[in-house]
Amino acid sequence: MKIAISACACKQELPLVSFEKGLTMESLFHHRSKDKVVVIMGATGTGKTKLAIDVAKHFQPAEIVNSDKMQVYKGLDITTNKVTEEECAGVPHHLLGTVDPNINFSANDFCRHATSAIDSIVERDGLPIIAGGSNSYLEALVNHHAEFRLRYECCFLWVDVSLPVLHSSLQARVDRMIDAGQVNEVREFFDPSADYTRGIRRAIGVPEFDDFLRAEASGTEDEITRKRLLEAAIARIKINNCTLANRQIQKIHRLHGLWKQSMHRLDATEVFLGSRDAWHDHVLAKTLLILHKFLYG
Ligand code: ATP
Repeated sequence: MKIAISACACKQELPLVSFEKGLTMESLFHHRSKDKVVVIMGATGTGKTKLAIDVAKHFQPAEIVNSDKMQVYKGLDITTNKVTEEECAGVPHHLLGTVDPNINFSANDFCRHATSAIDSIVERDGLPIIAGGSNSYLEALVNHHAEFRLRYECCFLWVDVSLPVLHSSLQARVDRMIDAGQVNEVREFFDPSADYTRGIRRAIGVPEFDDFLRAEASGTEDEITRKRLLEAAIARIKINNCTLANRQIQKIHRLHGLWKQSMHRLDATEVFLGSRDAWHDHVLAKTLLILHKFLYG
């Protein structure tokens, strides 16, 4: 039996192909060129968010799909370091602060929501940019989600920063988050019976405050003890952020082995050392060159 397949709702149309019964969807998709997706990855605090917005502004229209597994949840904007409306500069974001903070948003959930957001961006003739630090989400989408793999071609941009430099920057970022009101944000969210293994409460910066907030709520500890507990919480948050960065970098090295051909490492260390024009020279200009080649051949 011969079946004729005509154009589908995708941006780049399928050529009219006839194929024998039994041919797989995979071989069908080989007949059309894939739509392009930019993926920006890197450890926490390396500048992925800024790069995604700069890329989006350059290749308009473009929209960003968040792939940070804590920023998908509603709430705790300081603690999870969500991009502000001002920083977004009008670039539409998807999967950012939209999920109920009490549920577990799985890698499968991410794949479904991200694919549908990317489909809709492509239908609007926009460039989809996935940006975030959750490598398990990216791996699930790119390696295991057949529909995504068949329809999209990815260019992976890895923002890397030398570890000692990143560690000191992460510690300074924790101090800035505390100054920005993180303790109060977590205090308002505090529930002594809550489960720290579910939803947004797994975020670094939530469980670490538990001892301090319990002491505060019970009113049994003196001020010196409370101050000591608060300092201990902040010190733990700094250590946990550095540990997270180390783990994320290890995972990226493994993914680099899998995605080598289409993965580009951008060394942003100079940016963190304060060199003049470093963002443009070391990160943005190189990114734009890579993406021009990827998008226009
Ligand atoms: P894992 O399999 O270890 O969960 P992953 O690649 O799926 O790794 P990561 O983004 O590395 O996901 O997140 C791991 C953990 O790091 C989260 O469960 C959370 O505790 C913490 N984390 C990640 N992103 C944030 C964030 N934006 N704010 C606070 N904590 C975060």
